[in-house]
Amino acid sequence: MRMSGLFGKTLRNAPADADTANHQLMLRAALVQQLAAGVYSYLPIGWRVLRKIEQIIREEMDRAGGQEVVMPALQPAELWEASGRMATMGDVLFHLRDRRDRELVLGPTHEEVVVDLFKKQVQSYRDMPLMIYQIQTKMRDEARPRGGLMRVREFTMKDAYSFDTDWDALDRSYHAARDAYARIFERCGVPTIPVQADSGAIGGKDSEEFMYLTDVGEDTILLCDTCGYAANEEKADHKKRPVAAADPLPLEEVSTPGQKTIDDLVKFLGVPHDATLKAVFYEAAGAPVFVAIRGDLEVNEAKLRNALKAVDLALLDDQGVRKHGLVAGSASPVGLKGIRIVADDSVLTAPNLVAGANKPDVHFRNVNHGRDWQADLVTDISLARAGDGCARCDGTLETRRGMEMGHVFKLGTVYTDRMGAAFSDETGEQKSAVMGCYGIGVGRVFAAAIQANHDERGIIWPRELTPYDVHLVGLGFDKPGVRESAEQVYQQLADAGLQVLYDDREEGSAGVKFNDADLLGMPIRVTVSPRSIENGGAEVKRRTEKDAQVVPLAGAAGAVRALRA
Ligand SMILES: [Zn+2]
Repeated sequence: MRMSGLFGKTLRNAPADADTANHQLMLRAALVQQLAAGVYSYLPIGWRVLRKIEQIIREEMDRAGGQEVVMPALQPAELWEASGRMATMGDVLFHLRDRRDRELVLGPTHEEVVVDLFKKQVQSYRDMPLMIYQIQTKMRDEARPRGGLMRVREFTMKDAYSFDTDWDALDRSYHAARDAYARIFERCGVPTIPVQADSGAIGGKDSEEFMYLTDVGEDTILLCDTCGYAANEEKADHKKRPVAAADPLPLEEVSTPGQKTIDDLVKFLGVPHDATLKAVFYEAAGAPVFVAIRGDLEVNEAKLRNALKAVDLALLDDQGVRKHGLVAGSASPVGLKGIRIVADDSVLTAPNLVAGANKPDVHFRNVNHGRDWQADLVTDISLARAGDGCARCDGTLETRRGMEMGHVFKLGTVYTDRMGAAFSDETGEQKSAVMGCYGIGVGRVFAAAIQANHDERGIIWPRELTPYDVHLVGLGFDKPGVRESAEQVYQQLADAGLQVLYDDREEGSAGVKFNDADLLGMPIRVTVSPRSIENGGAEVKRRTEKDAQVVPLAGAAGAVRALRA
């Protein structure tokens, strides 16, 4: 490809709103162009990289036994009603109506469509195990698109779905997909670790995300420094610091004028955080929920949502709290009637807590669960934090930021039950197929590959993703014979089967051309200039090396091949 005709101009500086290295570099290198919030075009060089990522995914999914299909983005709303997700997906779904006033959605994912496809094609256990996948455009109406390709509204995703006759067979499909993922990300030059993930309100069993650990990631990961336990913050288990047991003391009111928060009370009464009971209010399905948790802990909303099997969960503000007859800043589970109480298990073993009294400026001392109040549901709903003990061993948890590259998930029979996707087993009995689903955000891999492989001058493409094998720079074309020599080297490299980006631009100083070469990030650079010819031929070097070697013009392709080996 000749740069003189290349569509897309490199930029010296990134636009001000690009705040991560990968976002800045993909804009500066003209790999993508934004159309609207969370909507991007891929320009020629970016598109070449995206297709290479897709090809790696194809090869590895095929190797794992997958078969490629393409399913429609345009989907009848009835399918989403049948699965129950019309309600649970909420505002993320793009809706539209056709000319006959039928409601349609633009697919954000394809469980519904693939189950429908399965129903129409599969009747017998003999047709399983089955894994089908596609690489296709998804649409999600994200509330806050941002971070370049990290959170977008239209994106390319690889989604795979396995169908098995039982859970043991699903385990095998799941591991085949999981192994494929490890190979895909390695080939794409993105180091990842699998971390345990939230299965969501809809249910399912094991769920893991493949995370690229980076400070610019949007997810928070908890890692154990001893046993290697790794989990998304939404899912992470942790040890709660034990508090000393004590005999229950008599409940007593204490005047607390102006003291509303746990921090206020801790100072005012001179008690530790873990001797207080924190009340947090939510609304789930229109009904209030009183959440009680030990004062030194925070509520994990994903765990709470799962415990309540709630689709929408919203924190209530002071006004919402008052609407339900509670006193903000002094709300209490003691004497509470008609409101569901969910308690973190931490409050059961903590004796004699300070809690609200449901009267302004008054709290209780010595509140004890079981004697003074009773939770409707007790479970773990607390957030793991750095420094907490690991739930699996005596190690300590630390937090890291991560970019989610992919997700593997044992769905089970949630969808096949709801949508009636049954098969007949060996005895002729009808059973629901057991499903797994496996997603990769192709654009995210693209972004992460840049984030993981760059320096202060630009991108350094991993070998399997590089848009071109070689960047050939021609300089000093006004000097006799130089352009001819550069053209000959271009032809020689192409004849050797190498993909070449050739900077054949008449204008442009050596500085400009070398800066572009470093920015665009091909792994090998070949330079033909009056100086290189005078020194004996062409300069050849890796993107990561400072100094070039000079080889005879006729030996350029051989030198490139040697550097690639
Ligand atoms: Zn551990």
